[in-house]
Amino acid sequence: MDIQQHVLKLREELNQHNYNYYVLDQPTISDYDFDVKLKELQILEAQHPEFDDEQSPTKRVGGTITKNFETVRHEHRMYSLDNSYSKEDVLDWEARVKKVVEGKVQYVCELKYDGASISLTYENGVLSRAVTRGDGVQGDEVTANIRTIRSVPLRLKGDYPPKFDIRGEIVLPFEGFNKMNEERIEIGEEPYRNPRNTASGSLKLQDSTEVAKRPLDCLLYNIIGSNLNIVTQFESLEKARQWGFKVPKTAVLANSIEEVFEFIDYWNVHRHDLPYETDGVVVKINDLHQQDELGYTSKAPRWAIAYKFKAEQVSTRLNEITYQVGRTGAITPVANLEPVELAGTTVKRASLHNADQIERLDIRVGDEVFVEKGGEIIPKIIAVDFSKRLPNSQPTQYIKNCPECGTELLRNEGEVQHYCPNYNGCHPQIVGRIQHFISRKAMDIEGLGGETVALLVKEGLIRDYSDLYALSKDQVIGLERMAEKSSDNLINGIEASKQVPFERVLYAIGIRYVGEVVAKKLANHYKSIENLAKATIIDLVTVDEIGERIAMSVVDFFGLEQNQRILERLKSFGLKLEISAEKLASQTNKLDGKAFVVSGVFESVSRDELKKLIEDNGGRVVGSISTKTNYVIAGDNMGPSKKAKAEQLQIPIISEYEFMSFL
Ligand code: ZN
Repeated sequence: MDIQQHVLKLREELNQHNYNYYVLDQPTISDYDFDVKLKELQILEAQHPEFDDEQSPTKRVGGTITKNFETVRHEHRMYSLDNSYSKEDVLDWEARVKKVVEGKVQYVCELKYDGASISLTYENGVLSRAVTRGDGVQGDEVTANIRTIRSVPLRLKGDYPPKFDIRGEIVLPFEGFNKMNEERIEIGEEPYRNPRNTASGSLKLQDSTEVAKRPLDCLLYNIIGSNLNIVTQFESLEKARQWGFKVPKTAVLANSIEEVFEFIDYWNVHRHDLPYETDGVVVKINDLHQQDELGYTSKAPRWAIAYKFKAEQVSTRLNEITYQVGRTGAITPVANLEPVELAGTTVKRASLHNADQIERLDIRVGDEVFVEKGGEIIPKIIAVDFSKRLPNSQPTQYIKNCPECGTELLRNEGEVQHYCPNYNGCHPQIVGRIQHFISRKAMDIEGLGGETVALLVKEGLIRDYSDLYALSKDQVIGLERMAEKSSDNLINGIEASKQVPFERVLYAIGIRYVGEVVAKKLANHYKSIENLAKATIIDLVTVDEIGERIAMSVVDFFGLEQNQRILERLKSFGLKLEISAEKLASQTNKLDGKAFVVSGVFESVSRDELKKLIEDNGGRVVGSISTKTNYVIAGDNMGPSKKAKAEQLQIPIISEYEFMSFL
């Protein structure tokens, strides 16, 4: 097969797999196999720029930087919908419709997803433009960012019209949202508030690579254009599906307003089982001629109405505002509520986020407040019921001093959170840092849990994580719940953690913004804590993916004398503060620039070990054989097609032992 054909075939295959996975939710190959094919295509495209295609699935990873988003006019205005909050409202709407329209009326019921509205333009089957709603007349052009969303087709299938707009919603599923937040909390960042705002914020990120990393989804519901040859809304949804769009299957055709109410009642309960946030139902007249007859008011179509679900909301009393201090010193105000049932759980506390939020809501102790629970883990306070405010209530004074140690709080310019600067003396910061140090992804100390850490600090046995290594069995035995056996386990667990590799130690010491991935990058680049401690901001930002904020945080960390002292102690206890000698020794440039394909089963090493050896020595592991491959390392059961391909391209096939001789 010639190369161009091969490139086209790979693109088609990958597009189909993207479609299966992101639109149909029915993947037919493993992620690994997908990645291998994608890599192969990337390599071919790099070698053959003449076959470049903007619609290639490789372009999904982003790479475009947009400094200013251009404001453009919508060719067809993006109307909003009239909202209704009761079935009476819907019945009134039906009556208005029937005054204008004669004959039978059918309705399409669709779920209303809570995300960021988007209008996509397709010309000759290719996505040409994506624009946010804006004010409905004009919005921001965000095409580069939208292209990274896997469920947005870049090229359509079937008999699509030459030009049309399609509207929908960019949403962030709960699962992805919660995962993003867990990662943020882990490294000391403030969590995102809710999926909708995060989805909408994502569309305006300047770096499309960042957008590509977010698990966004695009759900479509409305086609607009002329000469589309479509007569009903329901048909348009089916067509859009055939062209490759993700159109929720929950939409139904209803023959009467009673059937509409059945749909509403069903989803009012079952919406909680959906992976996305929904806030209501949209009811549309099915027949497009009838839609035309009904037309628009100045703000909204007369042929559609949104029914809003009642939010899972309750009101309860705010008893007290307390303040939590995180391991990085950040202060989070917490509302302590009169316990109340909400969406099947008892709610006692809600996050108030920061001082601005308290001021915005004008929330005061003793107030009756409305609490809501979306897909987020922590419930939130929506508003105060001012009608029930006590006459003697006083505005909330945000604390000026740390509730734990009394130190005056600071707030940096541009940051929303107050923080306690008493790094060395503030109890929850001390405990939090040690708890982070021993956590699973960090030192993973067996036999030691978060509560025991708090106890050890309280008893004055440890003040920082280096003290753990000076603990003796005599000191811990006899502490609460510490018998002979558990004391042994604890001491042994601490001893064993001295073997944890450098990159995880670097993560464990808790430099703000240095998560697992960043720690690994820094460890590989600087090789030792000593080198890293000497690095300047200018030096740090040259490392792949390290930005100024992380760089400043690293420099600040090592600038503290206390940290230098703790690190000295860790070193004296024998922790790994540099890349291991074997790893360092195994790292050479011997294979610099060489690309290897690994295939089959090996006798002396595992495939992963072999790949690591290649990378440690400056080589590259690629997924499939091309003219740019230097060697194929073959084990038992090498695939026959790979073998044929290597022979055809005259690429040397070597054994694992021949490979070892290179090193
Ligand atoms: Zn404090």
